Amino acid sequence: VAILTGFRTPPRYVQETDGPLGAALLSRCLSSFNLKPYIMFEDVLITKSAIKSITHSIGLDVELIPLPVGTSLRSELKILRTINDINPSIAIFIEKPGPNRFGIYHSMKGIDITKYHVNVIPLLEYFKRNNIPTIGIGDGGNEVGMGVVEESVRKYVPYGNMCNCPCRGGIASSAKTDGLIISLTSNLGAYELGKMIYDSYKMGKCLINESLEEVMLRAAVNSGCIDGVLGTRSLSVDGIFLDRLKDFIRYLVVKSPVFRS
Ligand SMILES: [Zn+2]
Repeated sequence: VAILTGFRTPPRYVQETDGPLGAALLSRCLSSFNLKPYIMFEDVLITKSAIKSITHSIGLDVELIPLPVGTSLRSELKILRTINDINPSIAIFIEKPGPNRFGIYHSMKGIDITKYHVNVIPLLEYFKRNNIPTIGIGDGGNEVGMGVVEESVRKYVPYGNMCNCPCRGGIASSAKTDGLIISLTSNLGAYELGKMIYDSYKMGKCLINESLEEVMLRAAVNSGCIDGVLGTRSLSVDGIFLDRLKDFIRYLVVKSPVFRS
């Protein structure tokens, strides 16, 4: 299973706390089915050490695959070689920047972030060519998968139809996936996917809980990750602080009738 994550927040382009925690928990879940997850992300220092530290924080030993950033032909060939070697049966994108219709990647505030991120276009083409199903998990409208609801993002999301960069194409991602999960934060969407798998197969390692959330988030922040909305090194994801995240997780795991088995 190829799991792609990594979103670097301007102005300093530091990895944010949304994405890697979801990737770690979902990998833990998939490993308990003897599936082999590969977590793929930008080949830059903070992102690499953060993802290593987050996965270790929950006792997970998983294959980590850094991919080159930017849209050069050299990067594209490296990405294609890597994915071809792994030959995944499914790909899951968690809080991964997706290009707009002009191939430009944007922050939520409409800034061009293309050269700081992995170019997913060759990956998506590869998955399509090889009939590999894809799932996108996002929360803003600029992520891989949101192409499924591109028109709504253009209409309702700030900067959706008009960005602050010279492309003028808006932040709305045109990158489509076969399945799309929209959630409050992408981490929570990934935990929900784990919960659905848990409900199907009753595997404990698919479940998030409050202490796992705290352990992973501390590992992320200690490794230098920042809140993608606040831009601060705080125990928060997208402006939502740990105590509140724990409330959501309690609801997700225990109280939601949708997830009751
Ligand atoms: Zn633009």
